[in-house]
Amino acid sequence: MAVKITKEQCITCGACVPVCPFGAIEMREDTAYITEACTACGACIEVCPAEAIAREAEQKEVAMDKTQYKDIWVYIEVAEGNPRNVGLELLGEGRKLADAMGQKLAGVLIGQDIAGLAKEAFAAGADRVYLVEDAELAHYNTDGFTATMVDLIQTYKPSVVLMGATNDGRDLGPRVACRVGTGLTADCTGLGIDETTGLVAWTRPAFGGNIMATILCPEHRPQMGTVRPSVFKRPVPDYSKTGEIIRVASKVKAADIRTKLIEVIRVCTASCNLEEAEIIVSGGRGLCKPENFSLIEALADVLGGAVGASRAAVDAGWKPAMHQVGQTGKTVGPKIYIACGISGAIQHLAGMSSSDIVIAINKDPDAPIFKVADFGIVGDVMEVLPLLTEEFRKIKA
Ligand code: FAD
Ligand code: SF4
Repeated sequence: MAVKITKEQCITCGACVPVCPFGAIEMREDTAYITEACTACGACIEVCPAEAIAREAEQKEVAMDKTQYKDIWVYIEVAEGNPRNVGLELLGEGRKLADAMGQKLAGVLIGQDIAGLAKEAFAAGADRVYLVEDAELAHYNTDGFTATMVDLIQTYKPSVVLMGATNDGRDLGPRVACRVGTGLTADCTGLGIDETTGLVAWTRPAFGGNIMATILCPEHRPQMGTVRPSVFKRPVPDYSKTGEIIRVASKVKAADIRTKLIEVIRVCTASCNLEEAEIIVSGGRGLCKPENFSLIEALADVLGGAVGASRAAVDAGWKPAMHQVGQTGKTVGPKIYIACGISGAIQHLAGMSSSDIVIAINKDPDAPIFKVADFGIVGDVMEVLPLLTEEFRKIKA
């Protein structure tokens, strides 16, 4: 439900501008103007002395004909010409939902020169792929991808849409949900089917991770959610599988896109690509000072892995936030997770407990991290890390 300004009533007093918590009101010559940043919170309505701001008359919702909506869709994010793992992970999980609901599974590919990726979607379980290719969609941009996704949903009416809770997915998902008039459960860590209603049961941490909330979307379609990367395992690809490709013409024009990609500046190298890493070496407060992170980096380097950090290490400024693993950081699921000088607080475990093998190095034999570790080394990280790095270097040589 949008908030609107009646231009004829606005006396341009500016009283609403400082009240908006989102900086969404601009004063223009003849009227106050509500920008895209508006979240429709309504904080400005009361303060307007001219009663020029109001919620748009709520259209009484006509009960949605939900029978028109079918099939499970997974938005497959593409980065540098390759599908991000989370898209393939969600196809694996989407396959289970589709089979349980007796529906088809579709992947959605939006970009330029990406038709070749359809085979990856089929190999991961998709029955069909919706493919939109256009030069204006060569790189992710909010306007173009939102318009394209909304158009696809309004045309083909999926029952469920899954997206990765990545930077782009977190940008795209809520916008699309708002425009198609449905809800979205963000940052899910579990998916299932509610036995009573047959709806998708979206599970996510709530209240600072103290409870897990399971959310249903009974009234609107599609049911939408973003899911954290690495929560689910990527299915083993089966390249013998094929499916139907539905090519959809893009309706996006250059003028529709308000942002322009000028340059790509890489701040994240392989060492912080935690979601895709097979090996992660993580450091915590036990490293005692930032310089000691070089021991973590040396081991990660020799193993070809990424560098993680606990929140304590990030809060201390030893590593940038993009390295943080945990409830308020990244969720990771590598083959091997090496936790060094990390106590194993519940909020840290929330981000790495789906790792295949956990190795912990801690000088305290009672540290909780050892309860989730497959292998534990009781010792000083300053001594153990150089030894490990040296041994792996010898093996590699
Ligand atoms: P500590 O708990 O201080 O542990 C340091 C460990 O190092 C100890 O076990 C100690 O025995 C060991 N040690 C010390 N010296 C050495 C040595 N020389 N050699 C070997 N071992 C040594 N935390 C996260 O990590 N990620 C999150 O996303 C996150 N989100 C949070 C969200 C909320 C809402 C809250 C309240 C907290 C969150 N936290 C998160 C913080 C979390 O509760 C812990 O405080 C944090 O994980 C502790 O980090 P640490 O294990 O590095 O430090
Ligand atoms: Fe700002 Fe809320 Fe008013 Fe929108 S409704 S302009 S977000 S105060």
